[in-house]
Amino acid sequence: MSEPVDARTLYVAGNWKMHKLRAEARAFADALEARIDELDEVDLAIAPPFTCLTEVADVLVPLGVGVLGQTAHAAPAGAFTGEVTMAMLADAGATGVLLGHSERRQLFGETDDALAEKVPAALAAGLEPILCVGETEAEREAGETETRLERQVARGLAGIAAAQLADVTVAYEPVWAIGTGRTATPELAQAAHAHIRAVLAGLFGDEAAQAVRIQYGGSVKPDNAAELFAQPDIDGGLIGGASLAVDDFAAIAAAAAPRS
Ligand code: PEP
Repeated sequence: MSEPVDARTLYVAGNWKMHKLRAEARAFADALEARIDELDEVDLAIAPPFTCLTEVADVLVPLGVGVLGQTAHAAPAGAFTGEVTMAMLADAGATGVLLGHSERRQLFGETDDALAEKVPAALAAGLEPILCVGETEAEREAGETETRLERQVARGLAGIAAAQLADVTVAYEPVWAIGTGRTATPELAQAAHAHIRAVLAGLFGDEAAQAVRIQYGGSVKPDNAAELFAQPDIDGGLIGGASLAVDDFAAIAAAAAPRS
C-alpha cells in the first residue's frame, strides 16, 4: 500500500555554498535557535562550509535541525588532497550531506558514477544524503528533461536498496533556475517531481517511492515558497541565496505548512 502524501513531513534545507565565516555561521545558528519554536512542523537542515560545520552543528543538531556537508568523497581514506570523507563529516557533527549539486557537477566534474558510490558511502557513515538532480536550459529546450532526470536518479541511486531509500532525499534543481532569480512555475516543478517519483517507483517500488521527499530548488524566496510547497509532489525546498539570511530562511520554512 502507498504511503499517504500527507505522511511526508516537508523538509527545507539551506545551502550556504562558499559563504560565512565561523562567527557569522554561529550568529545565524543562534538566531535560528531563537525562532525554532515557530518552525516545529517542518524538518530543517543547513549545509554550511566545512569550516563552520561543528560551529553550526553544536547549536542546531540538539534542536533537531540537520547539518549537512556540501559534498564528500566516497572513499574511506586516501590520497585525495582537498577532499573529506563521509566519516569526517559525521565526526565534525554533520547529520547528512548534499550530493550531486549542479555546481559540483558542472564546475568540479562530479559524475553520476561517482554519485553511485557516494550515496551508499554516506548512508554507511550514518549520514542522510540529499541527491540533487536537474536539467540544464539546453536540455529542457531539447525536450530532454525527463530522460536527463531519469538517468541522474537511476545512476545516482544505483548503489542502494529499496530499504535504504527512506533515508535519502532527492532535490529537483533545474540548473537554469539556480541563482538566476528564475523560478520554475509550480506546475512545471510539480510535473518534474511527479516524473522523479514515477522513476523512483519503477526502480524501488511504489511504497518506497511514495515515502521519499523530493525538494524543489532554484530561486526559492519567501514570496514564492508557499505556492511551490503546495504542490502534491513538492516536499519542501533546497534553498541557496535566500538561506543566508535567517529571516528569509525562517519565512521559507514557515511556508512549508503541514499537509492536511
Ligand atoms: C542551490 O544552490 O541549491 C539553489 C537552489 O540556489 P538558489 O536558491 O540561490 O537558486
